[in-house]
Amino acid sequence: MKLILLTFLMLAFLGFGLTIFLGIWSFKKRISWIKSFIFIALYGIACIGILVPMIERRAPKLIKRIPIVRSIKKSESKRSCDCTWSSLLLKKDDYPTKHKPAAQRISNQMYIRNEALRNKCINKGRLVPVEEMEGFGISDLDYSTAHLTPLAKKRLYELGKRFRAGIQNPDEKKSYFMVSSITRSQVQQTQICERYPNACTKDHSPHSYGVAFDIYRLHSRYKNCNEGMKALEKVLQEMQKEGKILLCAESKCIHVTVCG
Ligand SMILES: [Zn+2]
Repeated sequence: MKLILLTFLMLAFLGFGLTIFLGIWSFKKRISWIKSFIFIALYGIACIGILVPMIERRAPKLIKRIPIVRSIKKSESKRSCDCTWSSLLLKKDDYPTKHKPAAQRISNQMYIRNEALRNKCINKGRLVPVEEMEGFGISDLDYSTAHLTPLAKKRLYELGKRFRAGIQNPDEKKSYFMVSSITRSQVQQTQICERYPNACTKDHSPHSYGVAFDIYRLHSRYKNCNEGMKALEKVLQEMQKEGKILLCAESKCIHVTVCG
């Protein structure tokens, strides 16, 4: 933001100087008023060309909605079920001794302290954008952005694909789970801790390494979510056993840290 403001002020200052200079020259008849006006207009266009890409780069990317994910029509009956530790039979991996060290190791210590650092990681390709894909949707993210490391993204896509593949009933194949939190900077983590003091990790959350996401709901085509919940439970258990993910409970959701 600072850079955009400084650039804007610098361009405005130069523009002001240019206008005064051309005004005096035109007044002394060294240049025609029309030429002065054209120069100023060209300068204005050049300024827009510099500032707009800078602002666009800063704007959070909207999550691309993919029809294959949300394929349940509005007219069709739909059921939403919470994905929590009590609704799924899962084995917990200890948070401080497993999740945190795994996040540090797998991300190569990429701790995202603030937005500037996150943008740097995005520019270097260490964090990549995540979009809704087969088997899962992404909710509106308040305290995180839809980015993960390339490996964590691969695992999330794999999870969604295998979840759908595990459902036999053709109608039930339209089910999808929802991801509620993805990558948070330390600044966002602090903000969320201020809002929910009992439901957050104050420091070095796996979410701040770009390798974690939370699953909080399952949308099913049927009156109950039985088949979808079973498929989700199975794929989470399998990928945990394969050493690809670690699991633990978070308030009202399942926390997933990618570990291999
Ligand atoms: Zn989490």
